[in-house]
Amino acid sequence: MESVMSQAGEVEAAPRWVFTFGDGRADGSAEDKELLGGKGAHLAEMSRLGLPVPPGFTISTEVCAAYYEHGRKLPEALKPMVDEALAKIAKITGARFGDIDNPLLVSVRSGGRASMPGMMDTVLNLGLNDQTVEGLARLTDDRRFAYDTYRRFIQMYADVVLGIDHGLFEEILENYKNLKGFELDPELGAEDWLEIVARYKALVEKELGEPFPQDLHEQLWGAIAAVFGSWQNARAIAYRRLHDIPDDWGTAVTIQTMVFGNKGNNSATGVVFTRNPSTGTNELFGEFLLNAQGEDVVAGLRTPQPLTEKERAASGNGKESLEALLPEAFATLKAACAELEKRFRDLQDIEFTVQEGKLFMLQTRSGKRSTQAALKIAVDMAREGIITEEEAVLSMNPAQLDQLLHPTLDPNAEMTVLAKGLPASPGAAAGEIVFDADEAVHMKAQGHTVILARIETSPEDVQGMHAAVGIITTRGGMTSHAAVVARGMGRPCVAGAASVHIDLERETLEAGGVTLHKGDVVTIDGSSGKLIKGRVTMRQPELSEDFATLMKWADGFRRLEVRANADTPADARHARDFGAEGIGLCRTEHMFFQEHRIVAMREMILAESQEARRKALAELLPVQRQDFIELFEIMAGQPVTIRLLDPPLHEFLPHGEEAIADVAEAMGVSVALLKRRINVLSEFNPMLGQRGARLLVSYPEIVEMQARAIFEAAIEARKELHARVTPEIMVPLVAVKAELDIVKERITATARAVEKERETSLAYQVGTMVELPRACLMAGEIGQSAEFFSFGTNDLTQTTFGLSRDDAGRFLGEYAEKGIIHHDPFMTLDVAVGELMKIGVERGRAVHPDLKIGVCVEHGGDPETIGFCEKIGLTYVSCSPYRVPVARLAAAQATLKNQR
Ligand code: PEP
Ligand code: MG
Repeated sequence: MESVMSQAGEVEAAPRWVFTFGDGRADGSAEDKELLGGKGAHLAEMSRLGLPVPPGFTISTEVCAAYYEHGRKLPEALKPMVDEALAKIAKITGARFGDIDNPLLVSVRSGGRASMPGMMDTVLNLGLNDQTVEGLARLTDDRRFAYDTYRRFIQMYADVVLGIDHGLFEEILENYKNLKGFELDPELGAEDWLEIVARYKALVEKELGEPFPQDLHEQLWGAIAAVFGSWQNARAIAYRRLHDIPDDWGTAVTIQTMVFGNKGNNSATGVVFTRNPSTGTNELFGEFLLNAQGEDVVAGLRTPQPLTEKERAASGNGKESLEALLPEAFATLKAACAELEKRFRDLQDIEFTVQEGKLFMLQTRSGKRSTQAALKIAVDMAREGIITEEEAVLSMNPAQLDQLLHPTLDPNAEMTVLAKGLPASPGAAAGEIVFDADEAVHMKAQGHTVILARIETSPEDVQGMHAAVGIITTRGGMTSHAAVVARGMGRPCVAGAASVHIDLERETLEAGGVTLHKGDVVTIDGSSGKLIKGRVTMRQPELSEDFATLMKWADGFRRLEVRANADTPADARHARDFGAEGIGLCRTEHMFFQEHRIVAMREMILAESQEARRKALAELLPVQRQDFIELFEIMAGQPVTIRLLDPPLHEFLPHGEEAIADVAEAMGVSVALLKRRINVLSEFNPMLGQRGARLLVSYPEIVEMQARAIFEAAIEARKELHARVTPEIMVPLVAVKAELDIVKERITATARAVEKERETSLAYQVGTMVELPRACLMAGEIGQSAEFFSFGTNDLTQTTFGLSRDDAGRFLGEYAEKGIIHHDPFMTLDVAVGELMKIGVERGRAVHPDLKIGVCVEHGGDPETIGFCEKIGLTYVSCSPYRVPVARLAAAQATLKNQR
C-alpha cells in the first residue's frame, strides 16, 4: 500500500494536532469547535463534565488542510502525536492497540465545525486482525461476538478505505444464509462468522490483488486518511453547497475506544433528543435497538423500540422501552440529558450505547427540529431559566418562521386517506409524486410542484428532498435520515409508511388499494402522517401563544419599526394581524387592478385632453376615498404611507382587442382612435419612461384628485376613530428636487382647499421614494423638500445595475450558475445598492438630522437586508404582510447583534 504519510511537517515545528479526552479530563473543550469539529469539541466537553465517555482523541481540522495541501498525504509529524494519544488511552482502559490479550478497538469518525450528518465516512471496530480477534474472543469469552465484530470491520473498512462495494459482502452473507437455511443474523454461530470472515478476506484479496491488511497501524492510518478524504466526496460537497458551508473548513477525525451495544440483551444502542424535535414538548424522545451496533438506528433498517414508557404507551407498538428494560442506564441517560441541555443551552441530539448495562455517551450535538418545536423550545427554555429571552429571540431562524404561516389541511375537507406513516416533519403539502431525487430536481426546474416518494432516503437524495415540497418514505423511524433532514429543511415529511408499496422500476405507488403513477397528485400531512389521494384544501394556521410570546420579546428588543406594504383593505387587515406598525407603502395604482376598476383607470391614462382626464378622475375619486377611509380605519391611527400614482405604462395600457374595445366604449371613442392613442403613449422603455413623478408633473390633476381623496378620507376616518390620522403622502421616482417641489405644491394647494371647504385643519407629511441613484446622490438637496424618505430598492436595483426588473429573470439563473452573481439582487440587497442607500441616508440626515427613512419592498422582509438597514440607521422596514413576523424577528436580532 502506498504510504499515506508525507515527509512534510517536522515534529518540532508542528503545532498541537491531537487532543485527547476521557477519564473526566480533556485537552479541548466546547469552545474548540473550529479545531476539533462539533463532535470532537463536544466529546471533550462531555468528558470534562464527568459524563461516561469512552476515551479517545481528536485530530484537528488543521491536519485536514495539511492533508489536502500535501496532495492527500498526512504529515509525518502527526505520527508520534497519535502514538502518544494511543498510549494515554491504554493507560485509562488497560487495552492496547495490537495487544493480543487485551486489544484496543476504536472507531474512526469525521466531525466538521458544522454538522453534516451521514455525509462523510466512518470506520468502526478498527484494531482487529487474525490474532487480536482471538484475543477479543478470549477476553469476552464470546467467540461468536468476536468474529461477528471482525466481519463487520472487514466489510466497513473494505468499503470505506479500500473502495470495495459493500454489496458484494452482503451478497456473500445472503448466499451463506440461504445455503444454511438461516433467516436472521442472530441465528449464525461463531463458526458461521468465522467462515464468513474467511470468505470476506478472500473477496478482498480477489478484488485488491493483496490480502486484507493485518498491520493494525496500517489499518489505522488508512482509516484516518479515508475519513479526511471523505471531506471531498460528492455527497459532502453537495451538502456544503446546499448549506453554505465553506470548503476550507475541513473535518476533524475522532478516534475513540469502541463500546459494544451488541453484547447481548443488556446491551443497546440508540439516539435520544432531550426534547421532542417535532413538537418541542419537554420530554425525552428517542429510540434504540437492543443488542445492536453502530449506525443501525440511524440507518432505519430495523424497527427501533421506544425509549420511554410514555412513548411506548403512545406508539402502541408493544415493544418494551429502555426505561423498563435497562432502568439504571436509562436513569443515567436522563440525568446526562438534563446536564447537557443546561451546558449547551439548547436541545441536544445524543447518541449512546449501553454495554452490558453500563451507559456510554458517544456524541451530543444541537438537535435539528421543526419550526414549531424551535419556537416552543426557545420560549420554554427561557421560561425555565436555561437561556435568556435575548437568546431565545436570537435562536430562531427568521426565514424558518415563514413555515409557521404555511397552510395545514382543512379539517373539514373531504379526503381519501391512502395510508398512515410517522408524522416526521409537520406541515401539509400537495404535489405530483416522483420516485427519484434527480427527477425531483428536474421537475422542479420545469415548474412542477413535487412530492418525493422513496423507500428510504440517503444523503444522495438531499437535493431532491430540497426540490420537493414534501417527502414520504416507506421505511425508517422518527430519527431516520428522511425524518431528520426534512425537519431541518422545514419540508413536511411522512416517514415509514409501511403499508405503502413503492415500485421504483415501474414508478408506481400502491396504497389503500389504489395504484398511483408518477405525476399523479397526492397530499401529505407531516403533522398526522397521512398520505392522501389528490389535492386537499388547506388552511392558514392559527398562530400559537408561544409565537405571540416570542414576538413580544422580539418587539421589546428591536429598534427598527416594521411596517407592511398593503394596497387594499384586505392586505391592511393581514398587516395589522401580523403586527405591522403601519403601512409603509400603498401602491395606489394597484388599487385599480380589479376588472371593474381598471377601465376607469385606463380611461384616465388614455384621455387626450385635460378635460377628459378630469372626467375620468372624478369617477376614480370616490373609489379612492372609500379605500383610504378603510385603510385609515383598519390601521387605527398608525402611520399610513400612500404613494401617488406610479404606473409604468406597459402595465396599464390595454392589451388585446377585447380590453381595447371595453375602454373605447367607456370613453365613447372609436377603437381606431383609441389604438392611435395607445400608439402615441407607447414607450420603448416604460420602466424608465413617463412614470412616477414625471407623470405627476405632466398631469397635476392626478395629484389633485389623489391628494383630495386622501385628505377627505383622513377627515372621515378621524371622526370615526376619534384619533389623529396623519397620512404620509409619497412621491415616486423623483430624480430632481424640482420634481418633488412641483408635486408638493399641488398637494399643499389641495390641502388648503379641502381645509377651507371643510373648515378644518389637516396634518400630513409629504415625502419621497428614493429609488434612483441620482436621488441617493442628491439626497442632501431633495431632503430639503422631503419630510421623509423611503428607499424603493426594486427600482434602485434596476437602475444601479441597469438591469430590467421585467427581463432579468431570463438570465439571472445562468449568472448564478456561472458564479457571476451569488444572489438574485432583487431578493437580497446588492452591496452597491447598499452603498447608495448609505450615501442617501448620510446626505439626507445632514440637512434633516431626524429624517424618517424607511425601505419599502420585499428586501424589507429579508433578514440579511434588515441587518444592513439596522446598521445604516433606517427608521423602519416595510414588507409584504406575511413577512412581517419574519421582519420583526430579524429586526430584533439585528439590534441585539449590533449591541454585542
Ligand atoms: C421600488 O421601486 O422599490 C418600489 C417600492 O416601487 P415599485 O416596486 O412599485 O416600483
Ligand atoms: Mg419603484
